Amino acid sequence: MSAEYETNDTIAAISTPSGAGGIGVIRVSGPRALEVLRQIFQPHDPACSFRSHQFYYGHILAPGIVAPKKTIDEVLAVYMRAPKTYTREDVVEIHGHGNFLVLQSILELLLQFPVRLAEPGEFTKRAFLSGRIDLTRAEAVIDVLTARTRKGLEMAQAQLSGRLFDQVDAIRQALTYLRAVVEVAIDFPDEDIEIIDHGQLLEQLEVKVRKPLAILLRHADHGRIYREGVSVVIAGLPNVGKSSLLNTLLQEDRALVTAIPGTTRDTIEEYIDLQGVPMRIVDTAGIREHAEEVEELGIRRAMQQMEQADLVLFMIDLTRGVSNADRQLFQRIRHKPVILVANKMDLAPEGSPEMAEFQDYCKAQVSISAKKQLGISALKEAIFQAVIGKKEQWDEEGCAPNVRHKDALIRAYAASERVLSGLQMKTTCDLLAIDLYECLGELDAIVGVTTTEDILDLIFQQFCLGK
Ligand code: GDP
Repeated sequence: MSAEYETNDTIAAISTPSGAGGIGVIRVSGPRALEVLRQIFQPHDPACSFRSHQFYYGHILAPGIVAPKKTIDEVLAVYMRAPKTYTREDVVEIHGHGNFLVLQSILELLLQFPVRLAEPGEFTKRAFLSGRIDLTRAEAVIDVLTARTRKGLEMAQAQLSGRLFDQVDAIRQALTYLRAVVEVAIDFPDEDIEIIDHGQLLEQLEVKVRKPLAILLRHADHGRIYREGVSVVIAGLPNVGKSSLLNTLLQEDRALVTAIPGTTRDTIEEYIDLQGVPMRIVDTAGIREHAEEVEELGIRRAMQQMEQADLVLFMIDLTRGVSNADRQLFQRIRHKPVILVANKMDLAPEGSPEMAEFQDYCKAQVSISAKKQLGISALKEAIFQAVIGKKEQWDEEGCAPNVRHKDALIRAYAASERVLSGLQMKTTCDLLAIDLYECLGELDAIVGVTTTEDILDLIFQQFCLGK
């Protein structure tokens, strides 16, 4: 952890997103927060004593030495005395009108005092450095801000309340105990083999270290899917019903976030909430609309999308049967995981016998009517199975370790493997101690006990300004 990190200065930032909104919040943290508030805020009640954690109504005034002071905004201001604050420092919040120009003017005014602009994530970094939250909770703040589904949000909030920390910490405690036992034995080198009860240590290692580590590692894969989501492309000839399917899915399950940067006119991308998993769904229907001018470019883009996708929904039209064009398209995608989606079952409920030729290459086959909304839940179930796997395992209560945690968990597990074989082969205690120490070190890094400044920078850079 950074010893030289400067927390004596006072920082400020606009904490609400830019754009028009009912209110906008500016946050200030550091020892001069109240002093600066007093300089720029004129409370309506002249007897205002700035009691901690109490809102005061008033105006932000630009100081004018000769000219009368100019009103910048009508606001509510609150001073929160350390340590019961987000950063554990003195914090001030100014709630003004949610116009970026107004908020920017207030911020500029603050910066005329001994206050500097906060870096992205700096408030949360201070919360971490002051020991109010561990690193897993700090990282959960980003996840709460960016979650795209309610389930993802729930996972992030569980991590914020310490679920991951508690699980990692329980393993740390067990490792600390094992190390203590082994180190006592090191002090008696002649008897170290006899002094420790290998059977008991093996059991402790298995139950309290390796099993919980394995569970966390399994949940790490879920964590990735909750954060990043999965990507599914709907492919098929014109008029098979791709856009209709996208619309049907969106009507039922549009995810919290829908604006996708990078959407091209050749493809349409949206997020749906697939039983808690954010699913980016790409409809390649756009290709035909500009067929003349950009067909080639469009097809190339659609193919790129398919290459990156976790799953392709290959759609055919039951009323038309299978054509050579369908077969050609299928040739281009069959190396990917594919679900065969036979659409328009309302018009041709029997299906087409030619569909059988695709079956061997597909993970599943589902008949639907995108227009009449038939077979949609079976399709969603098939998608879930194909990209994620067994639902039961997925539903179990767990945390969602991120990539950084996962890397450390893998190394911790490998170290535990060495401890295991060391115990089985009854190697010397100093060797056991080294591996136990390594295992513990990895878990310390997860919760932030030994995390280097570089890693901290990487983590907090992902935050937006003002958080
Ligand atoms: P796309 O070109 O693959 O995106 O196809 P569209 O979604 O635009 O659908 C083409 C036509 O098929 C439209 O007239 C839709 O109303 C119709 N359509 C799509 N799905 C169904 C369905 O399940 N049943 C019926 N009867 N018509 C459908």
